[in-house]
Amino acid sequence: MGPPGAGKGTQAKILSDKYNLVHLSTGDILRTEIANQTNIGLDAKNYMDQGLLVPDEVLLSMMENTLTNLKESGIILDGFPRTIPQAEGLDAIFKKLGLNIDMVINISVDKEILINRLIKRAEDSGRSDDTKEVIVNRQNVYLELTAPLLEFYKNEVINVDGDGTIEEVTQRVLAAIQ
Ligand code: AMP
Repeated sequence: MGPPGAGKGTQAKILSDKYNLVHLSTGDILRTEIANQTNIGLDAKNYMDQGLLVPDEVLLSMMENTLTNLKESGIILDGFPRTIPQAEGLDAIFKKLGLNIDMVINISVDKEILINRLIKRAEDSGRSDDTKEVIVNRQNVYLELTAPLLEFYKNEVINVDGDGTIEEVTQRVLAAIQ
């Protein structure tokens, strides 16, 4: 977990390589759906372009299918769940599949640093949701809808300081996991 720009995707990829986990980024899955012009993609694009969350029902049915196919694997979830209803839905899916959450890693970074990082990323990513207005929207959506999950997962969550180089943050994440 962590706000947009905290480095979730980067760290999730490093962890998935190191521990041989399947890396599931809902943002990447949705961007693939958009590129393939599927119904999910066409529906999701409007929300994503404005920095808003795609509706919970869409995410939950998409993730139920994906997780059902992957239930034999170790998984790192990146960018999901992002709301309390998604976390409750994930609990129900996990119960049904006999899976459980081992740990929740939260990467925290100051808002000013995040906005600067995202503006910099916008220069080379070409992502259509990396404009200044949308970046600010995404931070506000995070604070309102996603940050309450820290309380929801208070028994599982490990906090890691995300201010530093990629390598520094990776070392902190690995130390926290140990
Ligand atoms: P990300 O790549 O994780 O920053 O996600 C990019 C965008 O995809 C977000 O701003 C949302 O519009 C959408 N998205 C990704 N994951 C979710 C989710 N769990 N719930 C709702 N929308 C999501």
